[in-house]
Amino acid sequence: MAEDEGPLRGHTEAQILSVIEHGLSLAGGSSSEVLTGPGDDTAWLRVRSGAVLVTTDAMVLGRDWRDDWSSPRQVGRKCVAQNAADIEAMGGTATGLVVTLVADPATPLAWVRELAIGLGQEAARAGTLIVGGDLSSAGPGVCVISATALGELPDGAVPVLRSGARPGDALAVSGPLGRAAAGLLLLQENRAADDPDLVGYQQSPRPAYGDGRRALEAGASAMLDVSDGLLLDAERIANASGVRIDVRTAALAADVAALTAVGDRATDCVLRGGEEHVLLATFAGKDVPSGWRVIGAVTPGAGVSVDGLDTQGGGWEHFTAQQE
Ligand SMILES: [Mg+2]
Repeated sequence: MAEDEGPLRGHTEAQILSVIEHGLSLAGGSSSEVLTGPGDDTAWLRVRSGAVLVTTDAMVLGRDWRDDWSSPRQVGRKCVAQNAADIEAMGGTATGLVVTLVADPATPLAWVRELAIGLGQEAARAGTLIVGGDLSSAGPGVCVISATALGELPDGAVPVLRSGARPGDALAVSGPLGRAAAGLLLLQENRAADDPDLVGYQQSPRPAYGDGRRALEAGASAMLDVSDGLLLDAERIANASGVRIDVRTAALAADVAALTAVGDRATDCVLRGGEEHVLLATFAGKDVPSGWRVIGAVTPGAGVSVDGLDTQGGGWEHFTAQQE
């Protein structure tokens, strides 16, 4: 049997780690911040700005992905993307990630190798590396991947928080909305072939790294990434800032038009679809960074409205929604 075939239980930890490290290395990512990477008791990272951004996010088999819907490379890429997008959402740049895999020993080693390749590929896209991690076994059918991302800001900068939006600011978004949610609907309905691009975005979002830093440099007053749906995430800015946010649907017409595969549910995907990982920010000036577009305004008051009408918000809520 080749070294990378069969389930994890047929291999020593050293063999598994070797396969993972090889998978990670295939992407060829590099980072000037990483002084010592995997293989020692800890990684050793350079910190230039005197302060560090830290975030963590876990993915659970059956909750956050399904093996019949997503390849292990896509799962790895998504795991890194959603963490790196949170660093972006503060205006930062990822400087390293650590990843823990807790898996049923029946998991094929080849699946883990492909996962590692995906992790390495997306880390390289984000301009950084997987610098370490941990491996542990779990009960039948269990697979959990947890990543922690570290990041930094430009010298002297402070992060863009959710609490800085002020009445008169413009609300802007860095990319299209609704794709990941529409892709999930197509998967659920066994219609993936109807729009593979949308499905691909659900399987593995592709944040435009650098958007967050451009927003910070353009003076964004508040920012986050759209992880749980435009309305719910806008409400988070509104609540943190003590303001009201009005979303204008006329500015979202192109987003809706791109989701013809899901018919009359397109608007709901755009307003409430999660896992998008584009950035949502407010800007005091009229100008927004290139690639961003204005989709609403900040006013006095509280909550979120759509075309001036009150809304309850609503998006992907972890404890009320099932993927399956
Ligand atoms: Mg976030």
